[in-house]
Amino acid sequence: MTALVPARGRPVKPLRRDKEDRATDALRYVFGPVASGRLGLSLGLDLLGARICTFDCLYCEAGPTDALTVARKPYVPAAKILAELADWKADGNDAPDVVTLGGLGEPTLNSECDAVIAGAKEIFPDVPVAVLTNSSLLSDPDVRAACNLADIVLPSMDTLVTAEYARLNRPHAAVGLDALRQGLLDFRAGYQGSLFLEVLLAAGVNDSEENLEALRTFCRELAPTRVDVVTLSRPGAHAGATAVSKAVLARFREALCPAAQSLVAAADGRDASRTSGTGEGHGPAALAARRPDALAAAIAASVRRRPQTVAVLAAALGQPRDAVQAALDALEQGGAVRRRQEGREIFYSG
Ligand code: SF4
Repeated sequence: MTALVPARGRPVKPLRRDKEDRATDALRYVFGPVASGRLGLSLGLDLLGARICTFDCLYCEAGPTDALTVARKPYVPAAKILAELADWKADGNDAPDVVTLGGLGEPTLNSECDAVIAGAKEIFPDVPVAVLTNSSLLSDPDVRAACNLADIVLPSMDTLVTAEYARLNRPHAAVGLDALRQGLLDFRAGYQGSLFLEVLLAAGVNDSEENLEALRTFCRELAPTRVDVVTLSRPGAHAGATAVSKAVLARFREALCPAAQSLVAAADGRDASRTSGTGEGHGPAALAARRPDALAAAIAASVRRRPQTVAVLAAALGQPRDAVQAALDALEQGGAVRRRQEGREIFYSG
């Protein structure tokens, strides 16, 4: 395999995955595709491989943060991630709508995220690359330069009220709210791609009028491509975080989302907006038939990063619901996944 385009002068050659990994379809850092209301069918890259983050958000779908840090390191070398991505493509999977850097923590903590973005573009030249970020490291010029390579950046900014920030995002002590805010504005000033800002509201935490007014002013200054105001739709890391009412969501959306730019997904439909298919789709064609264990492995990898329902998994992976349900039942029996009832929905998580 040829060396990939260097990101800021660093050539990265995908490592060859060993035979055992390929034989068992053990994808450790590539997961999905996941049906995303904002991005379509998104193939995820996990740049951390563990719960490593600059925040420990009340609402985190990946569970409590194990390592709260601001140290940038190659937690997972770019070459390993890109080797998996190249294998995933070589296995005959359809191209996803987007390749997204995200996973189990803040992806820009990985100091080789620039190489991952450049390499993903070389493997899938026609597929845009997106970065999910909590904005905490955008005050670092190296992180801004890396994110500049992406086609879409999806930063979050839940609150501009210091006490709410501390309670909701539970940041590392080195991540001050003023620096975070300024870092995002600085990034915006030099970025030509699409910027989709996300604001997540938790009841009684950051749904205050003070935050609404501060965010309104901030959005005018930032001028993002789009603003998505959402609330909790899946189980969070901590029981204390709950969704805001539809009325509160509507008030924030009206204030923050200019009509021409906003795509505001319903809290309970954000990731179900493309879930109508049950058999076909962009998902790996005939995944279950070709490799009996592959469907279970893909499901386990996906729900490890994000709790999902059977319907969402079936649509994202392009598989019949009953095949997904059967795989989930087997995984649950083996202790690899667990189920949790949220309202009328059953979510599976790793
Ligand atoms: S929601 Fe995102 S920023 Fe918050 S703890 Fe989880 S991975 Fe980190």
